[in-house]
Amino acid sequence: MKTITIPADQIPVSREVEVLVAGGGPAGIAAAIAAARNGASVLIVEQRGYLGGMGTAALVPAFCPYTDHEKPVVRGIGLELLETMKQACGPDYMSRYGEQLDWVPIDAEVLKRVYEAKVLDSGADVLYHTIVSQVVMGAGGSRVDGVVIVNKSGRSYIGCRYVIDATGDADIAAMSGAAFQKGGKQGELQPGTLCYVLSDVSYSRFNEYLERTGDTGQIPALVQKAQAAGDLPHGRKEVSGFSWISDSLVGVNFGHIFGIDGTRAEDLTRGAIEGRQGIKVQLDFLRKYVPGFEQAHLVTSGEQIGIRETRRIVGDYTLVKEDFMSMKSFPDDIARNSYFIDVHLADSQSQMDIQHLPSGRSHGVPYRALLPAGVDNLWVAGRAASSDRVVQGSLRVMPNCFAMGQAAGTAAYLASTSSMTSREVPIRELQNLLVRQKAWLGEEVHAALNI
Ligand SMILES: Cc1cc2nc3c(=O)[nH]c(=O)nc-3n(C[C@H](O)[C@H](O)[C@H](O)COP(=O)(O)OP(=O)(O)OC[C@H]3O[C@@H](n4cnc5c(N)ncnc54)[C@H](O)[C@@H]3O)c2cc1C
Repeated sequence: MKTITIPADQIPVSREVEVLVAGGGPAGIAAAIAAARNGASVLIVEQRGYLGGMGTAALVPAFCPYTDHEKPVVRGIGLELLETMKQACGPDYMSRYGEQLDWVPIDAEVLKRVYEAKVLDSGADVLYHTIVSQVVMGAGGSRVDGVVIVNKSGRSYIGCRYVIDATGDADIAAMSGAAFQKGGKQGELQPGTLCYVLSDVSYSRFNEYLERTGDTGQIPALVQKAQAAGDLPHGRKEVSGFSWISDSLVGVNFGHIFGIDGTRAEDLTRGAIEGRQGIKVQLDFLRKYVPGFEQAHLVTSGEQIGIRETRRIVGDYTLVKEDFMSMKSFPDDIARNSYFIDVHLADSQSQMDIQHLPSGRSHGVPYRALLPAGVDNLWVAGRAASSDRVVQGSLRVMPNCFAMGQAAGTAAYLASTSSMTSREVPIRELQNLLVRQKAWLGEEVHAALNI
């Protein structure tokens, strides 16, 4: 690639903070709230003008299950945010979903407000419309001393003691030189999806169709009929999900765009363009084939194509499929995961890789999976935590990202109290604080802590 050298530059120091959170998606939100509520000074730097990550920017239409089908597994800040969003959605929404903890539909505008209020109430500060573009490493190269940000004011430097990388893409870890993996053996990645919201639909008519025909909520019978007729492209044989915000408003997660690497602006651009073209085809299909959608109106699509998978850090521990299948616990568990393995097909000829755990069961998520090898004041929480590709297909969902974020934020606070490195944080103290702050770490940890 052709390169140029830019002359050395002096840039202003715009802030100094204890804990810098890069990225304001589910992991970053929970991390910031956890660190700030405990007393750390915290700043979230977010490239968009609102919080929420994929759940708001990409209009991912529902929260994956919080429960293992028997009890909530993700609790703490994640559960608090879910319950606050439900209340804020009003009485009609509450009457539908008040008691529900799995697959709760997202009203993105309500959720943006809820996230913002909770983060600001915690004492954390937010800087929008700003991208973290560079890291500055300390002497020895094992600490991030600060980051360079870019926004309408230009470039500036933020000094920090600790960093939580919640970019979903492990941007900060990658910039700091930490090792990472991306995709499968051939570099294959899960596809992207541009989600959207439709109005002027009818849940009652749709549901009446399901009851009459026995088709499921993902309408495989109609999708396959349309594929056979050439009205829909081949690929996944059902809709990933409809999330009914009200009787006449539905969030849609449908179809795949292949070969998108979410760390490349060119791919994100193609994803946006192909995604919008695809939505028109889907809308025509929905209006023509699906009862209740005859008058459907496209209200909005995601600001960006939804990205399921990019980098995964190589952490002090890497969660692997055997850990998932054997429902392993670890001495340093900071969360539990019961969501199924949900690896979407990398091209239109492949199959989905889906594997469920038994009801009531989960595996542990060790603290070490948040620690990128070689960097001592950095945590990576969320979609890019350290796991193999198969486990990432499960760990990546929003409730888990909240849980990992809460753990990273709490650990950063503990580290800040006595200038520890991320690896020196006492695990029992971390678990104790997490549990006292309503996180669920599994029966064994709770019994050992006597809480
Ligand atoms: C199509 C699709 C459907 C899905 N369905 C579901 C579902 O039904 N339920 C569910 O729970 N999960 C679902 N997921 C998964 C889930 O939405 C994501 O994995 C999850 O949001 C990841 O959270 P995160 O905090 O790690 O990252 P993200 O949500 O990606 O948030 C990262 C944030 O960091 C910001 N950022 C990134 N880089 C920078 C930078 N350099 N500087 C500043 N800011 C930066 C981004 O703007 C973003 O706000 C789905 C995902 C996709 C794509």
